[in-house]
Amino acid sequence: MQLREMSEQCGQCGFSNARIDTEAWGQFSSRRIMCPICGWTVYEEHRWDGDLQILTKRTEARGFGAYRVVPPGAYTGYNAFHAEPSKEVLDEIMALLTTKGWKGYLTLWDVRQNTSRLLLGHPLGKFSSGTTNQA
Ligand SMILES: [Zn+2]
Repeated sequence: MQLREMSEQCGQCGFSNARIDTEAWGQFSSRRIMCPICGWTVYEEHRWDGDLQILTKRTEARGFGAYRVVPPGAYTGYNAFHAEPSKEVLDEIMALLTTKGWKGYLTLWDVRQNTSRLLLGHPLGKFSSGTTNQA
């Protein structure tokens, strides 16, 4: 798969590498586009009629931030907030990343400034399982 098919520009913050995950089953396929910076997410489903792609469903969710928390020796993907996260949730993620040895990052969408704020780590850090790669 081409790299340009794997990412797309974010419709909320303009980040140029929103991540795309695709799935296909029979004559159907789906695409989930998520921005790792602000959490903006689009979900699409398509039906294929030969080479013709027909959009059958599309939802778009505003992002309120994004995070990734990777336990030692394991792998997890990116997650997005689609509502303002509670303080408890933020505290929990911060604790994992600062005191429990998990790797990852946390961003929050600043509604007033209309921009994303990086609270911890870096969204584009590489986290391999079982190694000590620097983020
Ligand atoms: Zn974005």
